[in-house]
Amino acid sequence: MRIDVVSIFPSFFDVLEVSLLGRARGKGLLDVRVHDLRSWAHDRHRTVDDTPYGGGAGMVMKPEPWGEALGAIASDASTGPQTTGPVIVFPSPAGEVFTQATARELAAREHLIFGCGRYEGIDERVFAHAASLGEVRLISLGDYVLNGGEVAAMAMIEAVGRLIPGVVGNPDSLVEESHEDGLLEYPSYTKPASWRGLDVPDILLSGNHGAIAAWRREQQLERTRARRPDLLDRSD
Ligand code: SAM
Repeated sequence: MRIDVVSIFPSFFDVLEVSLLGRARGKGLLDVRVHDLRSWAHDRHRTVDDTPYGGGAGMVMKPEPWGEALGAIASDASTGPQTTGPVIVFPSPAGEVFTQATARELAAREHLIFGCGRYEGIDERVFAHAASLGEVRLISLGDYVLNGGEVAAMAMIEAVGRLIPGVVGNPDSLVEESHEDGLLEYPSYTKPASWRGLDVPDILLSGNHGAIAAWRREQQLERTRARRPDLLDRSD
């Protein structure tokens, strides 16, 4: 999969060098390219923002650098032929909320472009223009406001990247995780069996795989009911 990121703070994405995603890049499973939006700003100060029409607080990101950046990235054929066009993701608190289902949808695509907003956001016309280059998704990390799209894009890249075959060593570990079947994951324990007066539940030491599976399912339901009843309403 190819992922392009456009940001005025490209160094936010240096962490993509480490851990599983760093290894996935090394193995060629993930081709991530981070671009500085200011490369497409041509005045002496490389300006990417201006005051809002209609007045109001803060600055708005100008459309011209975004138009050039997205056009150049979408038409860059250096990854070779692709069967589907890019998905252009704009992290936004006013977008659809990111879920594991969204991560799965994005992981099935060949090319993602993340456009990270700053200030009061990006000139609205950029989204309409981007729709002529690919599928546009405005996606929120949750109902709160961040300073910029970088942290949101990083979270999405990590959630999507770990679903790409070969990135996570044991694919079974993806299947049993929270949100994969609409429920939270069951509690996990490792050795020692007793620690600081706290014991691992006997059932997990029993060797009875059927009973363990039933206990885990019960724990998933109980935990989801207690912590996230909204998930149960949506789950089959
Ligand atoms: N004025 C915007 C609004 O009220 O919708 C918020 C702008 S915010 C300060 C700057 C940028 O941070 C946004 O353009 C977006 O890229 C990013 N951002 C902020 N909160 C986010 C969230 N919950 N999810 C995804 N991106 C977010």
